[in-house]
Amino acid sequence: MGLEVAVVGGGHGTNGSAATPGLLIDLTAMNKTMIDVEKKTITAEGGCRWEDIDIPLGQHGLATVGGRVGNTSIRGLTLGGGVGWLSGKYGLVVDNLLSAKMVLADGRIVTASATENPDLFWAVRGAGQCFGVALEFTYQAYDLAYPIWPGQLIMKLDALPAVVDFVNRFPS
Ligand SMILES: Cc1cc2nc3c(=O)[nH]c(=O)nc-3n(C[C@H](O)[C@H](O)[C@H](O)COP(=O)(O)OP(=O)(O)OC[C@H]3O[C@@H](n4cnc5c(N)ncnc54)[C@H](O)[C@@H]3O)c2cc1C
Repeated sequence: MGLEVAVVGGGHGTNGSAATPGLLIDLTAMNKTMIDVEKKTITAEGGCRWEDIDIPLGQHGLATVGGRVGNTSIRGLTLGGGVGWLSGKYGLVVDNLLSAKMVLADGRIVTASATENPDLFWAVRGAGQCFGVALEFTYQAYDLAYPIWPGQLIMKLDALPAVVDFVNRFPS
């Protein structure tokens, strides 16, 4: 039939790859999450936003590496690599991706992880927007030792030595 297919996440990408005059797949209605408190993992359906993950994890004293803005989508960000507030300590979002459930072009639904379809898992962690439709992601979470303050502080240049000294002594 030659019908062009594209997948849209939060629509925040700028290269046009989430738009098509053909068939557009939108997972927005799939936004359930499941937390395993013992393993400290969260599995999120592909339509979730970061606040769908951050809020329930926080209720268990946990956090994962995710996007900095709560109402942005998890899918384009995760599949593109992803950096967030906790990246300095725990790496990229894809470093904390344990598995992804993918629909392939031939219609098969497969899990990609370090042990299942590892080549696909390697591919989705950074170039994943081209390898199928991501239905679900499982991320590693961590104990949140203290509340996080996200925001910007702007200081004069002569405060730099004191700021560097403070940050070096700040508990990680
Ligand atoms: C306000 C704002 C805050 C941001 N903050 C951060 C941040 O903190 N950290 C960071 O790393 N980046 C951040 N970004 C960048 C953002 O992660 C990228 O622009 C990302 O590509 C957006 O993903 P999306 O799903 O919203 O975009 P879309 O444009 O919908 O999708 C982007 C790409 O992903 C593909 N895609 C979407 N869903 C799926 C799916 N389920 N399966 C397969 N492919 C899919 C689309 O086809 C397209 O190619 C931010 C962007 C904005 C606008």
